[in-house]
Amino acid sequence: MLTEGDFIQAQQNPQLRKEFVSELDWSEIKDWTKSVVYCEKQDYLFDGEVSMLTKISLIPRVLNIKGKKSKIIIYPASFYNSSSRVDSLIHKNFGDFLSTLIDHEGTHAKQFYFQERKKLNLLHFLRKHKWVNLEIYVALNVLEAEFPAWENQTNNFSRRGSSSDFAQGVMRRKDSARGFYERNKYLLEQFK
Ligand SMILES: [Zn+2]
Repeated sequence: MLTEGDFIQAQQNPQLRKEFVSELDWSEIKDWTKSVVYCEKQDYLFDGEVSMLTKISLIPRVLNIKGKKSKIIIYPASFYNSSSRVDSLIHKNFGDFLSTLIDHEGTHAKQFYFQERKKLNLLHFLRKHKWVNLEIYVALNVLEAEFPAWENQTNNFSRRGSSSDFAQGVMRRKDSARGFYERNKYLLEQFK
């Protein structure tokens, strides 16, 4: 079983990360997760580095097919000590890392498995082709995908032994997203 010490070593030494990821215990989310893999090449979203990402293939995603397990990709940013994206959300300890993997990405995997993000899946496709504006996409993303994931993280912080910096960072993020959502929710009227 991996320990805090293993996590610190993987933070310090990039060469250990692939093996570290292969030894992670994610049995808790195995019913909706196919694999958890490490990707050495850092990926970016509009607001900076991605730490982890949950993916299902395009066809089940666009056609809202239930029962498909996700692949969770872990990027180098999961091991960074600081980040250009949101410094408060860097993983200070192994509990923070597991909070993102099991409680956050695991929630996304479950959402895909039960297709709880139908409108978002359509919008994801439209957004890829820039057929829908960013505010609409982000507002719906926050509503259908991120609120439940942050909620699940919040409920499990003490169990994971997450750092208070990280826990506060997640809660701040949730609050600012709530503000954004409140300001932009009128944009979603057309998707009802
Ligand atoms: Zn998320």
